[in-house]
Amino acid sequence: MNKHTVLVTGGAGFIGSHACVELLQAGYGVVVVDNLVNSKAEALSRVERITGKTLPFYQADIRDKPALTEIFAKESIATVMHFAGLKAVGESCEQPLNYYHNNVYGTLVLLEAMRDANVKQMVFSSSATVYQPSATGEYSEDFPLGAINPYGRSKVIIEDILRDVSAVDKIKQNGAPWKIALLRYFNPIGAHECGMIGEDPNGIPNNLMPYVLQVAIGKLRQLSVFGNDYPTPDGTGIRDYIHVVDLVKGHIKAIEAIESDKFKAGGCHAYNLGTGKGYSVLDIVNTFEKVTGRKVNYQFAPRRTGDLAESFANPERAARELDWVAEKNLDDMITDAWNWQVKNPQGYVD
Ligand code: NAD
Ligand code: UDP
Repeated sequence: MNKHTVLVTGGAGFIGSHACVELLQAGYGVVVVDNLVNSKAEALSRVERITGKTLPFYQADIRDKPALTEIFAKESIATVMHFAGLKAVGESCEQPLNYYHNNVYGTLVLLEAMRDANVKQMVFSSSATVYQPSATGEYSEDFPLGAINPYGRSKVIIEDILRDVSAVDKIKQNGAPWKIALLRYFNPIGAHECGMIGEDPNGIPNNLMPYVLQVAIGKLRQLSVFGNDYPTPDGTGIRDYIHVVDLVKGHIKAIEAIESDKFKAGGCHAYNLGTGKGYSVLDIVNTFEKVTGRKVNYQFAPRRTGDLAESFANPERAARELDWVAEKNLDDMITDAWNWQVKNPQGYVD
């Protein structure tokens, strides 16, 4: 027997495809909407192969209100997991209007369609980039918000909208309240352990792990390590890397919480999803070489504009309120990412 059905926006993407697997395996029905601007439909075929289950896929843009209205009319949806969005920080500085239109306006249209269909449960993909830079590098959920680039600001604006929407409803007691979990991801890496789904960036990767993978497999010549003069033990930047499967398990826990007494009064609740441990760029390179036996050529390069020295989660609230902790370690993350890369050197081929 299926548990209720979840609409997964951006379900063909890196994190969304892993969420589809986890949801289907946990017994939920899954419907996907994605415009494939940064993904391929093949990812969803792989999800079906992994799980042995089928999922309806609507190739549509979340800014297309009639398309969303039709999906809500046809499918019996109880919760939305909202992954759809553009996510490249550098690109967001070049194309701020495109980022605000896609991420902010797209979410508004989605919320209107949800309101019209009386679907009021959402798990939203937020980000550690919503926080103001902290001197210690550690972030708790009540740390002040203040993103420093258009991508991060689009997430802050969406969080504000979601807080406002749920607050009005609480005051008016207008039917069932909105129940929203804001999940602030740190640095998701890795892949499903079967190696059939993973991260498939377009062009030259911006992020560290896909770049390292492509150097190790010979597609790129050399990694540039951005900065070796940070105030960290080895001088390179520290981040909180989290296995994508742990991350999506946090989403299942968020749905369970939304449906429990914890969210009875409704409202909007933020949770960090991270391990609480930081690793430097050189830790990643050294662990990668140890785990895979492959050499990663690298050179030191100047700091990347906008990068912080250190960022890691305080994950205690998610442990306490969602009963979720990340279980996989850095060796697991790298082993699974490499397995995906070796099995799919060209990524998804439709
Ligand atoms: P991704 O690009 O792989 O997935 C996003 C998916 O959304 C893609 O399949 C894309 O085609 C789709 N999409 C984008 N705009 C759309 C639109 N207007 N209509 C329909 N579909 C659309 O990215 P991801 O890494 O899986 O990230 C998922 C979410 O998590 C994003 O919202 C991202 O901002 C957030 N997030 C990601 C990271 C990370 O490091 N990967 C960190 C923090 C937050
Ligand atoms: N980084 C790097 N070389 C690269 C890409 C990233 O040295 O080619 C560093 C970056 O400066 C940061 C860390 O790796 O310290 C993680 O960067 P990523 O872009 O993966 O994630 P971010 O934390 O910036 O979202």
